[in-house]
Amino acid sequence: MKTEILKMLRETEDYVSGQQICGKLGVSRTAVWKVIRQLQEEGYQIEAVRNRGYRILDGPDVMTREELESLMGTRWAGSRIYYYPETDSTNIRIRQLADEGAPHGTLAVADMQTAGRGRRGRTWESPAGSSIYMSILLRPDLMPSAAPPLTLVMACSVAEGIMDCEDVKVQIKWPNDVIINGRKLVGILTEMSTQVDYIDHVIIGVGINVNMTEFPDSIRETATSLRIEAGHKVRRAKLIAAVMKRFEADYEMFMQTGDLSGLMEKYSSMLVNQDRDVRILGVKETYTAHALGIDRNGELIVRREDGTEEKISSGEVSVRGVYGYV
Ligand code: ATP
Repeated sequence: MKTEILKMLRETEDYVSGQQICGKLGVSRTAVWKVIRQLQEEGYQIEAVRNRGYRILDGPDVMTREELESLMGTRWAGSRIYYYPETDSTNIRIRQLADEGAPHGTLAVADMQTAGRGRRGRTWESPAGSSIYMSILLRPDLMPSAAPPLTLVMACSVAEGIMDCEDVKVQIKWPNDVIINGRKLVGILTEMSTQVDYIDHVIIGVGINVNMTEFPDSIRETATSLRIEAGHKVRRAKLIAAVMKRFEADYEMFMQTGDLSGLMEKYSSMLVNQDRDVRILGVKETYTAHALGIDRNGELIVRREDGTEEKISSGEVSVRGVYGYV
């Protein structure tokens, strides 16, 4: 009922009468009043005026399942939400939900992670009350070899979702780091469970530094947050809904061809490494090359100093700028 009442309040700028709410939801006035009280306690500013009804004033940074559900404008991406005030890692939560049979599009969101992870055992700093940690469950009908570009699809959607909400210019550092002004704003971790010839599920985890203002020493020089870059606090739930909206469309575009054909132009326009020299940090060697762009499978095409061209797949390497992180 909370979700419905929030939706009704948001749908109109004007007052919504208690009677309208009762009529639509088939509940008593006292029940409505109780929910309004609860919402006010959670931080919503809801004005109650006799003979007119209720009006929602300003959107605080509330993160609850109801808040997320009331904002989500998608058909399947994030249509089923699990919210955790604190959890180990949203990727771990989704893996468990996947094993229990959760459907495609299930989303786990946390306010804090105690074991936030990056690639290859790295950690993702995940303090409480200020950022987004979320993971989506996908069950694509694809061969396992066709799944890696999905991580680039998400990078594209997160970048677009952020720019839908805020007046900032974000870019993508290949394959999936979303950056602003050369600093990392978003990390994406994609994990898969596969059989020989089919995918059981794919999990894409996204960490977005939203309202953080302090960073540990190890990432102080390379990390940033939306609050720092936009200059004001940002509502996390609204941003999650914006990213899901974009992801739903981008994923469907990807699935039409099973590759990035339909998204390459958009992705490349945001790619900070496009036509730039990069340092390739591989397992066996580190070298400088000129990045020419990506192909339909999301691989980075580079030209080595001796003129030979090669394709790099995202699982193998990290990419840096020649003089720093970007
Ligand atoms: P990179 O090229 O940035 O090393 P990666 O893909 O290898 O990217 P990820 O798995 O995306 O790394 O993220 C883990 C790394 O990100 C950590 O090793 C750390 O340097 C950095 N990091 C950890 N937490 C945060 C954070 N909240 N904001 C920005 N950077 C972070």
